[in-house]
Amino acid sequence: MGKDTRFETEVIHSGYDSSEFKGSLAPPIFQTSTFVFDQAKQGENRFSGEEEGFIYSRLGNPTVKMLEDRMAVLEKGEAALAFSSGMAAVSATLFALTKTGDHIICSQGVYGCTFGLLEMMQKKFNIEHEFLSMSSPEELEKAIRPETTCIYIETPINPTMQLIDLEMVAGVAQRKGITVVVDNTFCSPYLQRPLELGCDIVIHSATKYLCGHGDVIAGIVVGKKDWIKEVSMTTQKDIGGVLSPFDAWLLLRGVKTLPVRLDRHCQSAAQIAEKLAAHPGVEQVYYPGDHKHPNYGIMKKQMTQGGGLISFTIKGSKEDAQKFMDNLRLIKIAVSLGDAETLIQHPATMTHAVVPEESRKKMGISDQLLRLSVGLEAWEDLWDDLATALSTL
Ligand SMILES: *Cc1c(COP(=O)(O)O)cnc(C)c1O
Repeated sequence: MGKDTRFETEVIHSGYDSSEFKGSLAPPIFQTSTFVFDQAKQGENRFSGEEEGFIYSRLGNPTVKMLEDRMAVLEKGEAALAFSSGMAAVSATLFALTKTGDHIICSQGVYGCTFGLLEMMQKKFNIEHEFLSMSSPEELEKAIRPETTCIYIETPINPTMQLIDLEMVAGVAQRKGITVVVDNTFCSPYLQRPLELGCDIVIHSATKYLCGHGDVIAGIVVGKKDWIKEVSMTTQKDIGGVLSPFDAWLLLRGVKTLPVRLDRHCQSAAQIAEKLAAHPGVEQVYYPGDHKHPNYGIMKKQMTQGGGLISFTIKGSKEDAQKFMDNLRLIKIAVSLGDAETLIQHPATMTHAVVPEESRKKMGISDQLLRLSVGLEAWEDLWDDLATALSTL
């Protein structure tokens, strides 16, 4: 493919050449655990790295490799690795980047299980972490210690939708030689490309927008070629959270429609965010595409659109929030996001239930906060459902 091929073309064609596979338009699924060597010497050469080629599917698989090559192109990185879940990708990355005594600086709010992993790393391995708003270079510089090896960011922050200026963070980190990792799950490379802004590593829960159809659990890591190779030979190979060929195939298929789907997700989310903000039963709406959002300037700078996720608080109690959810008909109560179906969840008792109440409060997660993943249905039908449920409170 040409150097200037556009994103909408790359999602369909990159990483796969049908002429290498008997002209098959769809990529084949290499459903095999191991690969046969011609001779013993070839086995020796593959293991020593002298010869390129497949050995065993935990170390690499052709269908999985097609997905990895496509993801590297889409995120503008050198190389990518696929994992059996987003958390397998997060844990392999953090274990590869840190050792006992190190310090990690995190955005003020991370995915619930990432929070759990950071706590575990602190308790078991004495790898400390600290949450920071990262609202100014001065604040960030002050927090950096000699032991700080990694800055770990989600933007938009789950579920409060605050944004972090990635270019600013990357600038500070580069001067100090610290690796910046961005969990880009909420945006996908169609809306935001952290590597182009100077960050070092991108992580995805591919379960979400990349898959888009709610039928796969998967993770992706993108970064520099040498570092990705190191992870593939250490924390991925030896911990073992690799993606299956069939799931890689479903992702290759899902990602083809990423731009088309996200355009619709974003347009519908913008409509619904506006309607919610005007409704008397709604206390506050958090949507980065809204020009009244406190980080709207950062959104304009580093994202192409506001995204498909809206958080909002309703007036009333936790019970009211749950009653509101129960009164929805079309919108499904489920965690996860980025699917064709619109999903709603209650972070305080669901995705962020593992986060202690005090930390939840600091992250801005109240009992009245709800997170909506706007799907691909007609937005008018979604609004009818929301408005009806709100009117019952
Ligand atoms: C879902 C999610 C994860 C974890 O991914 P899994 O595929 O469920 O393991 C990590 N980060 C974010 C932002 C997520 O939404």
